[in-house]
Amino acid sequence: MKLLTPRTAWHPTQLLAVMVLWLTTAGNLPFWMAIWRLPETQGLRALTTMGSLWVILLALLTWFLCLWVWPRWLKPVGVAMLVTVTSSSYFMLTYGVVIDASMLANVVQTDVREVRDLLSWPMLAAVLMGVVLPGVWLWRQPIRSVPAKSLIGRQLGTALLAFLVAMGVFWMSFQDIASLTRNHKQLRYMINPFNSLYAVTLLTVGQAAQATRPLQSIGEDAKLLKTPSSEASAPLVVLILGETARAANFGLGGYARDTTPQLRQLRAQGDLVYFSDVKSCGTSTQASVPCMFSHLGKSAYESSKDRYESVLDVLQRAGMAVLWLDNQSGCKGVCDRVPSVATTALKVPEYCASGECLDEVMLHELPQQLAALDPLKRAQGTVVVMHQMGSHGPAYYKRSPAAMKPFQPECSSHALQNCPPEHIVNAYDNSIVYTDHFIAKTVKWLQAQSRPTALMYLSDHGESLGEKGLYLHGMPYSLAPKEQTHVPMLVWLSKPLQRERQWDMNCLQSQSAKALSHDHLFHSVLGLTQVSTQLAKPELNLFSACAAGR
Ligand SMILES: [Zn+2]
Repeated sequence: MKLLTPRTAWHPTQLLAVMVLWLTTAGNLPFWMAIWRLPETQGLRALTTMGSLWVILLALLTWFLCLWVWPRWLKPVGVAMLVTVTSSSYFMLTYGVVIDASMLANVVQTDVREVRDLLSWPMLAAVLMGVVLPGVWLWRQPIRSVPAKSLIGRQLGTALLAFLVAMGVFWMSFQDIASLTRNHKQLRYMINPFNSLYAVTLLTVGQAAQATRPLQSIGEDAKLLKTPSSEASAPLVVLILGETARAANFGLGGYARDTTPQLRQLRAQGDLVYFSDVKSCGTSTQASVPCMFSHLGKSAYESSKDRYESVLDVLQRAGMAVLWLDNQSGCKGVCDRVPSVATTALKVPEYCASGECLDEVMLHELPQQLAALDPLKRAQGTVVVMHQMGSHGPAYYKRSPAAMKPFQPECSSHALQNCPPEHIVNAYDNSIVYTDHFIAKTVKWLQAQSRPTALMYLSDHGESLGEKGLYLHGMPYSLAPKEQTHVPMLVWLSKPLQRERQWDMNCLQSQSAKALSHDHLFHSVLGLTQVSTQLAKPELNLFSACAAGR
């Protein structure tokens, strides 16, 4: 029998060892580069630290793969591992991101348009070097057939030995490694493929647990404080949900460039307040949006496993008409029970020339979409959410029309690594200028309505534009730089609404530098719409301190 097997055929455990060697070394390029660059790993110290980490990782991967990768699975698992470590390495090296459950959730929720923005030549090169070449090599290797009993003995024996080696080296270099991971927490999220496997497990377990739970209704006692006599006197509140806008580049917040000229004029008229110290709930759309519209607030939201309705359900329950217009990748469950319209379905050539739509398309659609809502509810008041494309990257240049690009030259590639940093910032700032235009145009439309109107704008998270080597967003919150969590927020109130409510704009202005967060959105929306419920927390309502009679 032995003669029939070519001499060069691999013993399955040997081929597994080659795979482990590749995954540990080439498959962890960003991890090794990050350690090499640390100030405390220099000279001999660098070699010993990296040497022991390399042995530990090699041994842990051997242990892990020997336990469950048997010959029949070796090649498909090998290719899957190559895809996993190459894609995670590519994003870590290109954008400085790390891999955790929220980043993965972000990736899973990404739609086709967004994926297209990420494709580039360097990415194709990475796929060729990291997946195609080693994958083809692996697939073509002959594997010797080994009797099951001896194979099991060898693989389990190797696994045990590898585990002991990993523990031994870890014990010997404990101090070194412990201080390294304590001082540089991001390293933990950079170890391929354990980072991805851990994130997938957390995400699937979490989602599976949540899916089995019934949706809990909230604010069942919700009602309007005052019933309007007709639609003409009922309030119309627009909530603009910003995308990837960071406070650092908002002119109103003191940025050196005037990226918000139109909003500045509106503020000068006294009807607009910009809040300069607002923290986001998460660092991605997927993490922030459901949290912002939840009654729980960041900490309770993150620790809760239950599914709850959002503030939109409460408004609807109080009798108001609610509408969600989406120019983004959906409302992440927040608008499931209210009328919603995605702009991609509308096909408005004026604003959607490239298949993606500029945010103004939502304003263009607003009148007819409002008219389609239930008239009985409209008579009680209307709340519209417009979910922006905003400053969504990396293709920032697509977020502003040609006529609205004051900052030149701008990076006109979605492969950010091809552009000098200042061109990336130019393209990003142009997207903020367009957001300024979009919000101001919406305010002007609201001013033209004779009824009481209001607008609130709040971004879902910020963005890194190359500071500390980081790009885009989605860092684990505890590691995220301020650029990703400090977001712009503003409120504009029409004169009729100010008069009717007897709200004092100077008072609101005096709140503008307070430390606020996404936790304030739920309660401030209830305050703005005058919906009363036991759930409402006045201390998280921006308007409660400025209402007359308080
Ligand atoms: Zn977002």
